[in-house]
Amino acid sequence: MKKFGFEIDETDQIADAIIACRKCPRLIEHCRSIAAKKIMRRTSFGDEKYWGRPVPNFGKLPAKLLIVGLAPGAHGSNRTSRMFTGDDSGLWLYRALHKAGFSETAGSNRVGDNRLVECSITAVIHCAPPGNKPSPDEIERCQPFLLKTLQAARPRVILALGGLAWTSTLKAVEETAGISFGRGKARTPFKHGAHVDVNSPYSSGSMHLLASYHVSRQNTNTGRLTEAMLDDVFKTARALSS
Ligand code: SF4
Repeated sequence: MKKFGFEIDETDQIADAIIACRKCPRLIEHCRSIAAKKIMRRTSFGDEKYWGRPVPNFGKLPAKLLIVGLAPGAHGSNRTSRMFTGDDSGLWLYRALHKAGFSETAGSNRVGDNRLVECSITAVIHCAPPGNKPSPDEIERCQPFLLKTLQAARPRVILALGGLAWTSTLKAVEETAGISFGRGKARTPFKHGAHVDVNSPYSSGSMHLLASYHVSRQNTNTGRLTEAMLDDVFKTARALSS
């Protein structure tokens, strides 16, 4: 994008807008309260300075692969400021990303120690919600950031982690592309491995929408999502994005 004769980096523009956003008082207060230690912290991070604000996307835009998660973790990215870092979910995700060549390292411990490769990570909402449960209104308020991210990412592949991310992604693509994925039974429901192809509304060629179970502890600790299952999804994402 050009403004006043200079190239404006859309990644930074979107990040600035997300970080400055205060549209959801309940979530802003929750993130701040954790940072200010008004809410009990996990003892392992008790003395750390928390980010405590809306968390921007991680990775440069445009990106061949866009990952859509649910929300920042209270003691993960709400602490580190980088999507999916600092908690068990991140360990699973970055291990798989690194194995598939989408991340330089299998994790990120501090700002600047990892670079995503042709990949960016966003979320349905950018503030950590109490109990990991955003309200429908909060999802609605944050959706413009997802729309803007999709348009700037121009991805070949979108990978939605979990049912809420899948629903929000289909809706966001419909809104930005003016297409319909159908209603009721005609709409592809969320399931691990779900795959929908459309003509990309953001660039020439096809765009592929993939779904995976979320890398949450509820799924990984119970064996609902295994490393092999996650690796298979990333193998597909790698093949479709090349
Ligand atoms: S969840 Fe989204 S819309 Fe709500 S305050 Fe955070 S960044 Fe803004």
